Amino acid sequence: MAQLAASQVAVTVPVGSDLSTRRSVFKTHSISFHDKSWAPSLSLDLKTKNAWLRNRHIICQSVQQASVPKVNVSPLNLEDAKEPPLNIHKPKEPYTATIVSVERIVGPKAPGETCHIVIDHGGNVPYWEGQSYGIIPPGENPKKPGSPHNVRLYSIASTRYGDTFDGKTASFCVRRAVYYDPETGKEDPSKNGVCSNFLCNSKPGDKVRVTGPSGKIMLLPEDNPNATHIMIATGTGIAPYRGYLRRMFMESVPTFKFNGLAWLFLGVANSDSLLYDDEFKKYLKDYPDNFRYDLALSREQKSKSGGKMYVQDKIEEYSDEIFKMLDTGAHIYFCGLKGMMPGIQETLKKVADQRGENWEEKLSQLKKNKQWHVEVY
Ligand code: FAD
Repeated sequence: MAQLAASQVAVTVPVGSDLSTRRSVFKTHSISFHDKSWAPSLSLDLKTKNAWLRNRHIICQSVQQASVPKVNVSPLNLEDAKEPPLNIHKPKEPYTATIVSVERIVGPKAPGETCHIVIDHGGNVPYWEGQSYGIIPPGENPKKPGSPHNVRLYSIASTRYGDTFDGKTASFCVRRAVYYDPETGKEDPSKNGVCSNFLCNSKPGDKVRVTGPSGKIMLLPEDNPNATHIMIATGTGIAPYRGYLRRMFMESVPTFKFNGLAWLFLGVANSDSLLYDDEFKKYLKDYPDNFRYDLALSREQKSKSGGKMYVQDKIEEYSDEIFKMLDTGAHIYFCGLKGMMPGIQETLKKVADQRGENWEEKLSQLKKNKQWHVEVY
């Protein structure tokens, strides 16, 4: 590896990008909707950027490799705090943020729509990775005339620095809630989800009322930079992990030098439904010893028993490794739709039985040790 220090970015150039030895296998695919927000040039002024590009060219010539950019972030005061910020803005006094961008991030064959949304909070609603914001959609609550809508929670999908690396934005991964009449199979827009549609339809410059931040369950424990983190997501449950992974692999944070293992399991319908896949593939290439990435594509892959491939089937495939990791202190996280948990719990119990272990006891120990983190909705 060769390293180049620029005034604002640290650039590492890896040798050997052959992914054929990768432990995790997934189908290649192409999606035309990319989130390029991680591009390091975002934090550079033009002069620095040009110098960096020139230098990068020289380095690439000498080692014939792509660069591995880590973005230097200016530590926010938040790095020194012992506790995460909580409920700075309550529903009665929400903060009015501004929409920066709304981007559809799934391909045409994905069932449903998922958007990556960046909002500008001006540094007024600071948060830690794994927390959520509340959003109050505009309009009146139909159940309480004269009152605003109830708050809807959304996991934050960026690090505390935001996709802009300046601590002034937060990102969300929002799935548009659409209602189909079970009898006719036709969409009924009058019953579509209020907040998710408001967010996915919004335009840059629109105002959005936010509350929070909230949540402590999904915070990333940083006391041991060599720890193992097993992250299990279905759909938009990927949001907190995108934040963790950017903190681990994309940002150069002086107070957190991750050198452990992050293992991501993502369950979605098909390859067009993959979320932030470009970012994750880049980490695989750049940090093959620190990142693993496994996919369960329910409509494209078959499980061992010949059924649809769900995330619990992938967990079962690697259960020996996962159990060993848990026994040596790994953290395990679950995020996404509520419906994911029963199947996963069943699989974990089955594996424990096969290993002659008592799952209930193991689970209560994991909870006691604060290794078990669940946020499903
Ligand atoms: P609502 O208006 O609340 O409607 C809910 C559902 O009911 C919709 O599916 C709607 O189509 C249906 N519906 C509406 N009217 C009728 C009717 N008359 N008859 C039958 N059905 C009807 N979501 C994400 O997308 N991304 C996240 O990262 C995320 N993180 C979350 C984190 C937490 C901690 C929690 C608790 C939830 C999270 N959610 C997330 C879910 C989110 O809070 C909302 O619940 C979701 O977006 C739906 O809200 P909505 O206002 O669009 O739908």
